[in-house]
Amino acid sequence: MTDGFHLVVDAFKLNGIDTIYGVAGIPITDLLRLAQSEGIRYLGFRHEQSAGNAAAIAGYLTQKPGICFTVSAPGFLNGLVALANATTNCFPMILISGSSDRSIVDLEQGDYEELDQMNSAKRYAKAAYRINRPQDIGIGIARAIRAAVSGRPGGVYLDLTAEVLGSSLDMEIAKKSLVKVVDPAPRQIPAPESITRAIDLLATAQRPLVILGKGAAYAQADEEIRSFIETTGMPFLPMSMAKGLLPDDHAQSAAAARSYAIGHADVVMLIGARLNWLLSHGKGPLWSESTRFVQVDISPTEMDSNRPIAAPVVGDIKSALSAFNAALKPGLIKPSATWLDEIAQRKQKNIDRMAARLNADPSPMDFSSALRAVRNALGAWPDVYLVNEGANTLDFARNIIDMHEPRRRLDSGTWGVMGIGMGYAIGAAVVTGKPVVAIEGDSAFGFSGMEVETICRYQLPVVTIIFNNNGIYRGDAIGSACSPTGLMQNARYDKMIEAFGGTGYHVTDTSSLTKALSDALASGKPALINAIIDPTAGTESGHIQSLNPKSTFAGKK
Ligand code: ADP
Ligand code: MG
Repeated sequence: MTDGFHLVVDAFKLNGIDTIYGVAGIPITDLLRLAQSEGIRYLGFRHEQSAGNAAAIAGYLTQKPGICFTVSAPGFLNGLVALANATTNCFPMILISGSSDRSIVDLEQGDYEELDQMNSAKRYAKAAYRINRPQDIGIGIARAIRAAVSGRPGGVYLDLTAEVLGSSLDMEIAKKSLVKVVDPAPRQIPAPESITRAIDLLATAQRPLVILGKGAAYAQADEEIRSFIETTGMPFLPMSMAKGLLPDDHAQSAAAARSYAIGHADVVMLIGARLNWLLSHGKGPLWSESTRFVQVDISPTEMDSNRPIAAPVVGDIKSALSAFNAALKPGLIKPSATWLDEIAQRKQKNIDRMAARLNADPSPMDFSSALRAVRNALGAWPDVYLVNEGANTLDFARNIIDMHEPRRRLDSGTWGVMGIGMGYAIGAAVVTGKPVVAIEGDSAFGFSGMEVETICRYQLPVVTIIFNNNGIYRGDAIGSACSPTGLMQNARYDKMIEAFGGTGYHVTDTSSLTKALSDALASGKPALINAIIDPTAGTESGHIQSLNPKSTFAGKK
């Protein structure tokens, strides 16, 4: 005989799932113990949201679903934020929660941690399933894997009742019930006529622009994308998590002339990027009404979501870009020399303007000078994974820290969410084995700060830098300690990591910041740098002030 616990672990092993994340408790504790004893790596967190975020980013980096385990009701709900965030960002993840007795839950008779978890998850997940019999564990996990990674990736919820976990099953029946998923994310080759249509449109363009999104990064089509962009000579713009797909210092990058390039392009080719709020929905002052679009995306309903798409290419990006490359003829797609020249001039002007701000050395540090100090240390570590959240900390770092390798920048993403920091940092360190630097606003860090203990417990090479300006947005009079945006003045976040045996640094100037980061990275050990930033340096809501409604009656009687 075998039981539900063993079947879950066997199904994971059969499908190459070697790492799981979670928080232990009733009814999954024994399952986690068993997984660990069977050679599956288990990372235990302090809060399910961080465990879920770690799983989600692991999914993004590996194209395998990240697995997060939680206990029932409250544990599940804590993990649900991460599941919803994964779905929104198109990261493949499976949230598996233990659940209470169905007969009691469904009659709302008040069980321990009672909640109808599967139906609660449905709204926030790409798919939600429940396994009601031990002989369905194999097929249930297979369905969850396929749902998470095929087509547009996303978050999947899998409900495992305590009863199913504890049920026994005949070994022979159990063996036959397991499913090894064959080709979980099959290629989706775009229709040849869609490629022709797109190339025909691009061939008419004088002022083409490619926008790369994190879908392009996820697709691991790095060579295909690079070859297409370099062969055509089109300028490109990376969305924040697509930075590094081609290096940020690439001659064709239009990042430093972003508004100009978007506003003046005649044909924009979107590759794995949605025309959502991060691109002003393709509307408003940033965009021209006459711009025509090519869009490459795996999701057919993404087309025409905000602007009409003249040349939709529905398929996976690796297949699509291979097809584009095969169809290219020399000189067929050719941006005009004037266009390239205009972009180059704008770029230079903006780079010069930014240099003045970057090279200033105010005391206390501001966002720009502190990031220059960080950038100087990172120069020796082109391979590092960079996690980034906060308001001003996010806006400035996105522009100042260049990326040189694909999928190295992990940030607040589609929702602009805060609280992903430590979960993403842990997930990235675990699946890549590479050093991670998390650049965190002091407020953003607070959402997942307790995971510093997790980082120290597993001795992960994560260096967290807190941009400490005493508050949300800023920490001066408007943000004084007890105002809605205020936080503890002069907090010593570096002492937190010392409590767990990590190394803390407290820095107030740029050269100490560069040195602390270089030393911390060289040590390969958990570290936290408390970097003091001028409390008056930030702006409220960062770069998205227009999204923050203000009372029209402010100051009036
Ligand atoms: P960004 O925020 O960087 O602009 P988005 O998350 O808005 O990126 O867009 C990513 C897009 O990429 C989604 O529309 C998703 O459907 C698409 N996508 C994800 N993976 C693939 C893939 N392998 N092939 C094609 N499109 C993909
Ligand atoms: Mg702050």
